[in-house]
Amino acid sequence: MVSLIVHGGAWNIPTEMVEAHRTGVAAALREGWKLLSHGGSAVQAVEAAIRCMEDDPTFDAGRGSFVNALGEIELDASIMNGSTMRCGAVASVQNIRNPITVARAIMEKSDMVLLTGIGAVRFAKEHQLPTCKNDDLLVGRELQRWKQIQGQRKFSAKDAFRGTVPSDTVGAVAMDANGIIAAGTSTGGTPNKPPGRVGDSPLIGCGTYADSTIGGVSCSGWGEGIIAVSLAKSVIDKMEMTGADGDAAAAYGIQRLASKVDGLGGIVLLDRNGRPSVAYNTPRMARAYRTSEMKSDVIEV
Ligand code: ASP
Repeated sequence: MVSLIVHGGAWNIPTEMVEAHRTGVAAALREGWKLLSHGGSAVQAVEAAIRCMEDDPTFDAGRGSFVNALGEIELDASIMNGSTMRCGAVASVQNIRNPITVARAIMEKSDMVLLTGIGAVRFAKEHQLPTCKNDDLLVGRELQRWKQIQGQRKFSAKDAFRGTVPSDTVGAVAMDANGIIAAGTSTGGTPNKPPGRVGDSPLIGCGTYADSTIGGVSCSGWGEGIIAVSLAKSVIDKMEMTGADGDAAAAYGIQRLASKVDGLGGIVLLDRNGRPSVAYNTPRMARAYRTSEMKSDVIEV
């Protein structure tokens, strides 16, 4: 059994943007599936699927990300191997097109977990990973949004998840033929965020968690709330401690986010048998999944 689930954010995705999200998550699933179905590892599949969405300007990750209050793009990403329990993450990193690849390199080539800002860029250069210009990541849509937001209102990360403000964080969870589960998440954060603001996505146990004996989780939504309830790990704990199945654990996670901190968001997960589950309390969540027991991909927005 091999299995892969990807997501492209949980929010009030407007009807005219549904098709781009559908196409984007479908392409990411295909990229990851190509590897998994030919003996690739769960970590490889998660990285490939997330890279695909980082490169797709539809999503708030890599190219196409939101712009911070200074007009810069600062990215967060994390990845975890649920068999070795090794993890890697970058936060507030600039000038990197594929932060998930730097996160993976930190996981596999260092004994650290999280590097921020210029330290992460320095690590990327030392490991011959490509850097880019801010302008290479910036798209017209986000420049326009940034100009409109300037002077309009004070930044509120929570409010960003109340209206139609996009929340297009991306993530993936894979199980490979060896039963190894890996999970990862990548984001540009929230629009007009103060420089240095870090959400849940690069924090292990919040936006991302994997333990091959239990399952793997990737989250999207109001980052400050997701951090407060340690969302990814609390979903894993629910499965481990109570024997809840994936659907019940995902629903529990979203209910916990709503009841404890009045938060909005979404979760994708695989249980230890590779069975996919999804839960969200936003109007929509873009996701796609496939297991070797299924005849075709499921793509839903
Ligand atoms: N959770 C992300 C953050 O707060 C945003 C998102 O999911 O869209 O940075």
